[in-house]
Amino acid sequence: MAASETIDLDRLELRPGEARSLDVELRPGSLDYGGGQYASGPRDGRLDVSRTAAGYALRLRFETLLEGPCMRCLADAGVGVRVDAREVDQPGGGEELESPYVQAGELRVARWAHDALALALPAQLLCRTECAGLCAVCGESLNDAEPGAHEHERPPDPRWDKLRELRLDR
Ligand SMILES: [Zn+2]
Ligand SMILES: [Zn+2]
Repeated sequence: MAASETIDLDRLELRPGEARSLDVELRPGSLDYGGGQYASGPRDGRLDVSRTAAGYALRLRFETLLEGPCMRCLADAGVGVRVDAREVDQPGGGEELESPYVQAGELRVARWAHDALALALPAQLLCRTECAGLCAVCGESLNDAEPGAHEHERPPDPRWDKLRELRLDR
């Protein structure tokens, strides 16, 4: 099944009050978030379409794995995100509600999936919930160090920089 860009809702020929669930393959694409790039591969999703008197009520659900740099230590991270989004499109009538993703009976499902994923992101994308981050002094990842073992007794001495340069030159 190829990933869908749009879905023709009118072709489902639902009458008001009728509903249908569709399996859709989604390609939410990549997101820029907190200075990092996060990619999400194709995912299977579930689209519930309900015909209302004047339009559609829609629900889109999928789970995905976002891959990109940990916001604390910059190591590769994979974060599972669960998306459950709803849209109502009811043009005309007294209570006018228009979804930006529905136009002339067509649902732009790929764009909706992308936007819904962006809204469902956790505040921080981390390699692990208790990621220790990077040492503020030397920039080394603290995840590999024994707890309390990574310490700097004095503020960095400029001579250390020289030493580090020498090591790099080797
Ligand atoms: Zn991390
Ligand atoms: Zn350090």
